[in-house]
Amino acid sequence: MNDDTEAPVTPSTVSGAPVTVLGLGLMGQALARAFLAAGHRTTVWNRTPAKAEALAAEGAYRAATVTEALGASPLTVLCLTDYHAVHDLLGTAGPALSGTTLVNLTSGSSDRAREAADRFGGHGARYLDGAIMAVPPVIGTAEAVVLLSGPQPDFATHEPALAALGTLAHLGTDPGLASLYDAAGLTMMWAVLNAWLQGTALLETAGVDATVYAPFAQQMATGVAGWLPGYAEQIARGSFPAEVAALETDARSMDHLIEEAVSAGVNAELPRLFKAMADRAIARGRGGEQYPVLIEEFRKP
Ligand code: NAP
Repeated sequence: MNDDTEAPVTPSTVSGAPVTVLGLGLMGQALARAFLAAGHRTTVWNRTPAKAEALAAEGAYRAATVTEALGASPLTVLCLTDYHAVHDLLGTAGPALSGTTLVNLTSGSSDRAREAADRFGGHGARYLDGAIMAVPPVIGTAEAVVLLSGPQPDFATHEPALAALGTLAHLGTDPGLASLYDAAGLTMMWAVLNAWLQGTALLETAGVDATVYAPFAQQMATGVAGWLPGYAEQIARGSFPAEVAALETDARSMDHLIEEAVSAGVNAELPRLFKAMADRAIARGRGGEQYPVLIEEFRKP
């Protein structure tokens, strides 16, 4: 059959490795669809069976039980609300876990990921933990970044199948790493968004529309992002010479931010937080050093 006449993927054209998806919420359905689209024999199971109907019509095999679903494929992808749900679901799976590889894409903390690796490993399962840095509509495209951590050989074995989901990043053998990177990435996302909203609220008081400010904000965020590798080297060396500006100079600018926010009548919590952290570092004698010296404040509980 040449390319012009090739049929769309249907159960009869499925040729990829068998894959099971447990949990068919918004994300789980997107994951299952991506496996189907890539030609994998895809077995699905969901607590509320009706959510499997559309996928079954698209070619997925509906398992009647979790045990059947686990036995259908060497690789099972989990995508549930949280780790309580994962333990509820697999807590009684027992021998059905032996020899299977679980890829848990449920969101949670690094400690929950390590606990799950220990628990399911104790039942003879191989275990990779993961975090999805994407929304369901982009799953199956390169835009969907899927972070994974756990034993490298298990990642290597299942990488070809998992690649159907998007762009994979294996971060290391510690199963908690994917969750930690996820937390770091989300912190970055909310920090940038909150900083942008602060500026937007400030400029609105002078009649500047959010759409006018957005390109300037984007340029600032991109420019600052360019400083990160050099600043990271200072953190790695533990040495923070003020090559560009000293922290005490930055702290004086932070006073201006607070003054602007207060006089404009907008929220001043964010600039006050910046200033409070800088002041603590300055009180410890770090005012003459460069901004990344604040890592010492972030390292504290
Ligand atoms: P969702 O639509 O609320 O689906 C939750 C799924 O968990 C459903 O299949 C639900 O089954 C199942 N579930 C919950 N408790 C269960 C239990 N005790 N036993 C068995 N199944 C149980 O959530 P979602 O959007 O798919 O998100 C799933 C995971 O992906 C979450 O950890 C989320 O943080 C992560 N994630 C989501 C997105 C996103 O944009 N949606 C992005 C990144 C990461 P029922 O259908 O029977 O209720």
